[in-house]
Amino acid sequence: MARVFNWQIGRQMAYWYPESRPRRQFAAVFDINKCIACQTCTLACKTTWTSGKGQEYMLWNNVESKPYGFYPLRWDVKLLQLLGAQEWREGAYPGRTLFEAAPAGKRVLGWRPEERDYAYPNVGEDDCDGRIDGGASLHVPHASWFFYLARICNHCTYPACLAACPRGSIYKRPEDGIVLVDQERCRGYRECVQACPYKKVFFNPLTGTSEKCIACYPKFEQGLQQQCFVNCIGKIRLAGSISPPESARPENPIDYLVHVRKVALPLFPQLGLEPNVYYIPPIHAPASFLHQMFGPGAEAAVRTYRAAAADQDLGGLLGLFGCTERVVARWQRAGDSVVGAEENGTEIVRVPLCEPVFVRDAFDQEHQIARVNCP
Ligand code: SF4
Ligand code: SF4
Repeated sequence: MARVFNWQIGRQMAYWYPESRPRRQFAAVFDINKCIACQTCTLACKTTWTSGKGQEYMLWNNVESKPYGFYPLRWDVKLLQLLGAQEWREGAYPGRTLFEAAPAGKRVLGWRPEERDYAYPNVGEDDCDGRIDGGASLHVPHASWFFYLARICNHCTYPACLAACPRGSIYKRPEDGIVLVDQERCRGYRECVQACPYKKVFFNPLTGTSEKCIACYPKFEQGLQQQCFVNCIGKIRLAGSISPPESARPENPIDYLVHVRKVALPLFPQLGLEPNVYYIPPIHAPASFLHQMFGPGAEAAVRTYRAAAADQDLGGLLGLFGCTERVVARWQRAGDSVVGAEENGTEIVRVPLCEPVFVRDAFDQEHQIARVNCP
């Protein structure tokens, strides 16, 4: 085992391979507060990449309701149980990661779902924690709550799938950090399926190989955001790249949200994979649940997000989500607008901080037509 630095847990940790960061790391921010669970992202991915034989059960992108939704069944609670109680201390994590907790003969602590665990991808949808009594939803955090968690492969800096593969079939591209399975090398041992804590590698029983989210790399190579991003109805997603914290650039929107404002957090950072999909936590869920899921920064992130309406920079940047199909490499606020640009500064999109409101007359005199149903 090598020693590598994982900034999300604030310490060095054991990993199967030496530290080797890509030249640029694909990353994304998902704003949970805006997801409406329409599953358009799920279908956009399904129809693009997993409509073939043997892929019927696969959802490279899925959206589940927390706390009772899971795909596959109990993916997170089962692993947390296996890992046992661990603690964060002053923002760092001295507890065991999945690599450090691996049993003898294994490279990663994990478990392999059974076929039926994938059979109910919408289990727990819209199920609330607690009863809904009169007025209970008027206070934040809500006494009764649930939220939608959209999930794709995290294209981790320290992928458990890659570490576990005995054939060396899984690789991380040096140019963008996207994690792929070499279909020629894979022999279908499914060590990756067992090792990925997020359960985002899938076994195809017809080809006998493992498959996973490819971050729509043919699009990303052309500066375009992924299918599940550009089709997102709630405009919750922003794709780009992330720098390590010591070289964060505030003009990079992902760096700004993750490193500068610390409003977007990784999913289960304590597992040790340094995942690269970051979530703006929901403002209405209990702090203890968010702490377990997103680490000790969750409460501060919620406070920052709640203040965003009066914060022209953060509020403006959040307005760029879902506004262009191109990858926004740089951003800046320019007066009453926020501008997204290519890395070379070429403007891609300009969004007003405050959307103008136009009120039409009920009856349009010029065209002699009613503009509302009941003039
Ligand atoms: S989320 Fe899972 S499949 Fe994706 S890179 Fe990380 S360990 Fe591998
Ligand atoms: S398309 Fe967007 S809003 Fe709809 S479920 Fe997916 S992430 Fe949520």
